[in-house]
Amino acid sequence: MQTIRDISASADAEERRSKPPVVVYPNETLPPAGMNILQAARQSMTKVAEVIVPPREAGSFRVPKGHFFRIVSMEGSQVGDLNLWNADDLSERFFSGKTRALHATHVGVGDRLWSSLPHLRPMATITHDTLGWYGWDKDGAGVHDVIGTRCDPYTNRLLKGDNYHHCCHSNLSRALASEMNMSVREAEAHVHDVLNVFMCTGFTHDTHQYFMKASPVRPGDFIEFFAEIDLLGALSACPGGDCGSGHSSDAAPCYPLGVEIWRPHPESLAGRTFPERNAYSRTHGL
Ligand SMILES: [Zn+2]
Repeated sequence: MQTIRDISASADAEERRSKPPVVVYPNETLPPAGMNILQAARQSMTKVAEVIVPPREAGSFRVPKGHFFRIVSMEGSQVGDLNLWNADDLSERFFSGKTRALHATHVGVGDRLWSSLPHLRPMATITHDTLGWYGWDKDGAGVHDVIGTRCDPYTNRLLKGDNYHHCCHSNLSRALASEMNMSVREAEAHVHDVLNVFMCTGFTHDTHQYFMKASPVRPGDFIEFFAEIDLLGALSACPGGDCGSGHSSDAAPCYPLGVEIWRPHPESLAGRTFPERNAYSRTHGL
């Protein structure tokens, strides 16, 4: 598509383009994740609960602060869309945009999942990822993105003109409604941009459009998180399956995903502090 812009190059265009990139949020001063303690703690953990998320549906789960949880590929290559809330306050929820700004377009071990304003603290820390080897491929794609939003029936309606009820947005809405005993419309307002678990994505080199390709995840792969606060989670097994072709329809083969809750020995976390809500005064200059 031709966009309307003045293409008469400025005489100093090259000079203006040659400025060095500056990282917007240098993250060396973030509170440390304490990975040494977490890596030791995970050696002592035992599985205490498990939830199976059916294909093209979502499931909910709770993780106490100080526990670990894993999202596990079970039967086939399948992408998951993850929402997280403070289990005691749904207004504190995962903030995909700031997580992207503080870490990167895709997240991995040592990165944190940050909560929405005004809370802005780590909700979870990534402690293990069996797909960490993937890195960046020749198309610039990586795994576990925080650049997509979630497939939803409104965008689908815009693009295809039909109603499809098993987009991740709807799956997450139904799962939260069931968990919280609220209407699906009330629950929908709490559904937010996701962590795209196992999804392999990037931006095209030429048009910079969001693209996906078949996920490299295989049965037995998992990504593991440490809960920094008491968490309520919802995970959708995306109707796109491995997201190698399409989504927002029943066309792709889809598989279940597992969510496992793991409890470490309490003494293994001795000396580790848990994050408080952000300390900004909230007076905004007044
Ligand atoms: Zn989806």
